[in-house]
Amino acid sequence: MNRNLRKTVIAGNWKMNLAPSGAKTLIEELKPLIAGKDKCEIVVCVPFIDVPSVAEKVKGSDIKVGAQNVHFMKSGAYTGEISAEMLVEAGAEYVIVGHSERRQYFGETDETVNLRLTAALDAGLKPILCVGELLEQRDRGITAEVVSMQTKIALQGIDAERLKRVIIAYEPVWAIGTGRTATSEQADEVCGIIRGVIAGKYGSDTAEAVTIQYGGSMKPGNAAELLAKYNVDGGLIGGASLKAADFAAIIDAAQN
Ligand code: PEP
Repeated sequence: MNRNLRKTVIAGNWKMNLAPSGAKTLIEELKPLIAGKDKCEIVVCVPFIDVPSVAEKVKGSDIKVGAQNVHFMKSGAYTGEISAEMLVEAGAEYVIVGHSERRQYFGETDETVNLRLTAALDAGLKPILCVGELLEQRDRGITAEVVSMQTKIALQGIDAERLKRVIIAYEPVWAIGTGRTATSEQADEVCGIIRGVIAGKYGSDTAEAVTIQYGGSMKPGNAAELLAKYNVDGGLIGGASLKAADFAAIIDAAQN
């Protein structure tokens, strides 16, 4: 990570875990552990139902709140969906878009990821855009092509000014929730490829300023090595973000 040039962001993705009561307990445990850890931005991306109570609970701390998905329409007959304006009013500042679980289980495409990202930016949210290759794509040697295409389509129509609010998370799908982590070299290489795509579209100054996280079984034991890499500006953390001590240890690793 290169803190001189860009913001380090450690974000937890709670996925479909923790109702408001459990969310409250986790935030209470986390707050004292992260006090004064000001070298990175700390975000928790929580289930929709937890957003208002977690937003209330984190007041007075440096923890920011995010959601895990957003619909691209402002309102209307979209049963079960949540708009960006609703998330803002509920207290969210960040939102994950294009997580591989949304792509895999809920039919998200690069095109709908672009629409969601655009809607999030329109509402003033900070999107965390997830891109990453399947194991089969890595084995075929097309990782660079896959993440480049995902990044380019997701950012279609987004100008350099709006890009400043976008965080990109490189998440190799084969490393998510599997306990198998990309090596720090693999993470650095692909984060660098994504930075190259940004440079091609927006210029190198913009590319050097964009925060690119690694996600995929990041945990206390491997965080320091991953975060030490030049192109890795933080982490998107699933499983380990559900344990206050583990999430805090990853935040500690980002302090150096
Ligand atoms: C994620 O959900 O984005 C993720 C990286 O999960 P895990 O850390 O559990 O692999």
